[in-house]
Amino acid sequence: MERTAPTTGRSALPEAAILDREGLDALIAALRGDGYAVIGPRLRDGAIVLDPVESADDLSWGLIDEQDGGRYRLVPGDAQTAFSHTVGPQSWKRHLYPPRQTLWTGRRDGRGFTVETPADPVPHHAFLGVRACDLAAMAVQDRVFGVAPHEGRSAGQERFTDSGYAARRAAAFIVAVNCGRAGGTCFCDSMGAGPKAAGGYDLALTELPGCGTPAFLAEAGSATGAALLARLPGHAAGPQDRAAADASVEQARAHMGRAMVPDAGPLLARNLEHPRWAEVAARCLSCANCTMVCPTCFCTTVEDTTDLSGDHVERWRRWDSCFTVDFSYIHGGAIRQSGLSRYRQWMTHKLSSWWEQFGTSGCTGCGRCITWCPVGIDITEEARAIHDSEGRG
Ligand code: SF4
Ligand code: SF4
Repeated sequence: MERTAPTTGRSALPEAAILDREGLDALIAALRGDGYAVIGPRLRDGAIVLDPVESADDLSWGLIDEQDGGRYRLVPGDAQTAFSHTVGPQSWKRHLYPPRQTLWTGRRDGRGFTVETPADPVPHHAFLGVRACDLAAMAVQDRVFGVAPHEGRSAGQERFTDSGYAARRAAAFIVAVNCGRAGGTCFCDSMGAGPKAAGGYDLALTELPGCGTPAFLAEAGSATGAALLARLPGHAAGPQDRAAADASVEQARAHMGRAMVPDAGPLLARNLEHPRWAEVAARCLSCANCTMVCPTCFCTTVEDTTDLSGDHVERWRRWDSCFTVDFSYIHGGAIRQSGLSRYRQWMTHKLSSWWEQFGTSGCTGCGRCITWCPVGIDITEEARAIHDSEGRG
């Protein structure tokens, strides 16, 4: 399957059209016809998750989400909208960087031992409904996994590209959705990551609410996206459509649930012994939810398993978390034994030392870690408490 890489901006490809529900359905059908497995936001177990989508009927029409620290509820919204909810518990990383992967298998063969690496086919995914914060998260993981160069990369580091991630990423077709509504825990605006997708997509949709029927401004961001858009039923977008789309995004920006304090990285770096760390540690359960739902967290561990005969062995890589004690285990013990040290490690890495490592923030303001923390710990609130204490000093 041939495809071109998404551009970093959309100005070079001005193609735009208005799609209705039939057009959205045709988009999904065209992607499936081109051999993509379409993954999109749909309702399962009381949440919007990222599952296979076969038609527009599978999308989460008329649902919006209420989100706050430790709280997530779906409630009825405008039945003519498919994307007025915001991000759910899952991010696209589970499709680009699966929670469990076989690294290699070994088989005893007479007196020898044969090691094989799995030759799994690369899935061709079309991601439908990627929000700006999650596009930014993909760009962050591109740096982490060696797909994109960055100023923090040391000499020779390009040799360590994660080949599985790189292959999945290159094969993916991305349909972004610009947000017309902000969730209660969103703070992408203050992170410079949303609510409008800045680039890195093949197509971008902006839902135009209030039309009485479903309507989407579809804009191409790559040659592949433009070619696909040209095949869809729709009509040319006019200046008033673009103005309506811009107004929708600005509405989301104006109602952003939270904001990160400015210069959070240096702020945390000079406050490593702040008493607030002990306060948050007293609440933190070290459950690791925040790292599992985060679209940029990438820590893993490896596990070996053998069958009972000892003739077959497998090495697996699976997601792990800096919130587990064992994660920092080196000879003799774990470095981060206290909850304080683990929470501080996570938050300072996200907002501060990630810059030194990868030349970017490790947080895009998606808000998932706030919503899915069982005790409602809020990364923006923790940063603000330290920020405000400096003002009082
Ligand atoms: S740290 Fe929290 S808000 Fe930031 S990207 Fe991760 S889950 Fe989203
Ligand atoms: S901050 Fe919340 S989600 Fe993260 S480990 Fe602590 S209790 Fe769990």
